[in-house]
Amino acid sequence: MDWTRESALELLGHVDFDVLVIGGGIIGGRVAFDAARSGLRVALVDAGDFGGATSGASARLVHGGLRYLGTGGSRLVRAALGERDVLASRIAPHLVRALPFVLSVAGGRRQRSRCAAGLLAYAAIGGFQGPLPRFVTPEQVALLVPSLRVEALASHAVFHEASTNDSRLTLATVSAAARSGAVVANYLRAVGLDLEPDGISRVSLRGIGGEVTVRCRAVVNATGPWVDRIREMEDSGCRRIARLSKGAHVVLRPDERWRAAVAVSLEGGRHLYAVPCEDTILLGTTDEEYDGDPAGVVARPADVAHLLKVANRFLRPEMLRGERVLSAFAGLRVLPRGAEAALRASREHLLSVGPGGMVSVAGGKLTTHRRIALDALRHLPDTIRPRRMRLSDAPLPGASRAPAQNLHSRLDASTVDHLLRLYGSETDTLLADAREVPNALVQITPEAPDLWAQVYYAIRKEWAVTAGDVIHRRTTLGLRGLDTPEIRDEISSVLESGVGAGHVDLRSRAGTELSGRHGNGSLSVGRGA
Ligand SMILES: Cc1cc2nc3c(=O)[nH]c(=O)nc-3n(C[C@H](O)[C@H](O)[C@H](O)COP(=O)(O)OP(=O)(O)OC[C@H]3O[C@@H](n4cnc5c(N)ncnc54)[C@H](O)[C@@H]3O)c2cc1C
Repeated sequence: MDWTRESALELLGHVDFDVLVIGGGIIGGRVAFDAARSGLRVALVDAGDFGGATSGASARLVHGGLRYLGTGGSRLVRAALGERDVLASRIAPHLVRALPFVLSVAGGRRQRSRCAAGLLAYAAIGGFQGPLPRFVTPEQVALLVPSLRVEALASHAVFHEASTNDSRLTLATVSAAARSGAVVANYLRAVGLDLEPDGISRVSLRGIGGEVTVRCRAVVNATGPWVDRIREMEDSGCRRIARLSKGAHVVLRPDERWRAAVAVSLEGGRHLYAVPCEDTILLGTTDEEYDGDPAGVVARPADVAHLLKVANRFLRPEMLRGERVLSAFAGLRVLPRGAEAALRASREHLLSVGPGGMVSVAGGKLTTHRRIALDALRHLPDTIRPRRMRLSDAPLPGASRAPAQNLHSRLDASTVDHLLRLYGSETDTLLADAREVPNALVQITPEAPDLWAQVYYAIRKEWAVTAGDVIHRRTTLGLRGLDTPEIRDEISSVLESGVGAGHVDLRSRAGTELSGRHGNGSLSVGRGA
């Protein structure tokens, strides 16, 4: 049976849960999945959309972090490279794919030797999985990254990482949690905590569908940039553990297809990178202390101008013209504030257990989300902590090796490839479900390969509530700068008619204003803002 908000609210209000996870980004999604798989009764809620904050605003890299080698972080790099490989080979091969990276190194022979040694050490730490790093000629670079100003830089090396679709990886993880028995609901905000460390806690939730109080034996606070706000609900006098740093990205339309990403070192140990992604290029990132409301983070025109200016040093000017800017977005890194308070801070992530027993977890990387979630679960109270907690490599929905069977004969090869990249083996279900809707195989707009079938699937199976949920996190429309009023109106009409959701009116009893963007500030710069 398809999910309905009514039934989710009903269950949230009537079941005694073992764990309530607050925050449906990649970390909360994974905590819910692993907890449900281990037999716990789990609920997962998000104030906005699943993946609507940091987990939908990353650089989409699944990587070890070459630059951490220089700061002595080889243990962390090894762990991250291991995560990259298991995500790409087993957990989500449809969503995590190998990506060659061109590293541009300015300077003479000494710099080149240092770079060679670093890349070799990086490959060794990763157990020499995949092709070995190598230096390449300017001609080879031009084939990989056609827009690079090769003449401006001294040498180029190629090494291998992986990239993903961050919001779809989060949605697949939340789906996995739901299929393992977790009760999940987006657009439900935790507004009050009444914690009983050794008994039944009560958490008040408010959002679309009304208000509900959840009874649970443990609470995990996986609210990313909001981590301290929820901790303050538990203990108004607590010292903050997180500081926030804003990172903005610009999305560009390339002139030719890029076969690799590129990273360039800047002064002060910083890097600028450009990553090919769904026919676009993500250019990032900025790094700026942020003190405001996390929900208000946006990529400002000044961020866009700054990124284009810096990129001008290594990308051809044609690539950086205003008309090539499709969209821009920003997210917040969660960094340790210092070693104060009841905080166990590592460079990877922050974790604290409060006086009410709530486990708060934030920061780290999308790449290492499995390890971060496991750490959170290991801090649950003894009474409910599963006895043997290990990293699970269970495949996410869509990861099945069996190829999709029911690919429609009316679909061309590039559309099939598009669907398989987003849904993997779930493409079958998406197409089968769409059979009864006449326009299911029609593109939403000629400018993108996304089909109406994806909209129906988003509503039925992926908890889409607003047009923004569909545009920015379930299809590739937002990335391509196609968040136009016309497309919003058309998708909103489908949401309101309930076509995609069968007869369920997802907005019934809303009583709450929808905010299409929650914390993942996004600005359409080029078109249709
Ligand atoms: C600019 C940038 C680039 C990055 N690039 C990469 C990269 O390339 N590779 C990589 O591995 N990592 C990258 N990261 C890091 C990665 O994105 C994050 O570590 C990860 O997404 C954090 O996920 P999360 O679940 O902790 O937080 P979030 O995704 O922010 O999720 C927290 C959720 O909590 C919800 N919430 C908040 N308050 C409440 C409440 N009261 N009730 C209910 N729900 C609530 C929010 O709505 C939100 O959905 C990047 C980060 C940034 C900022």
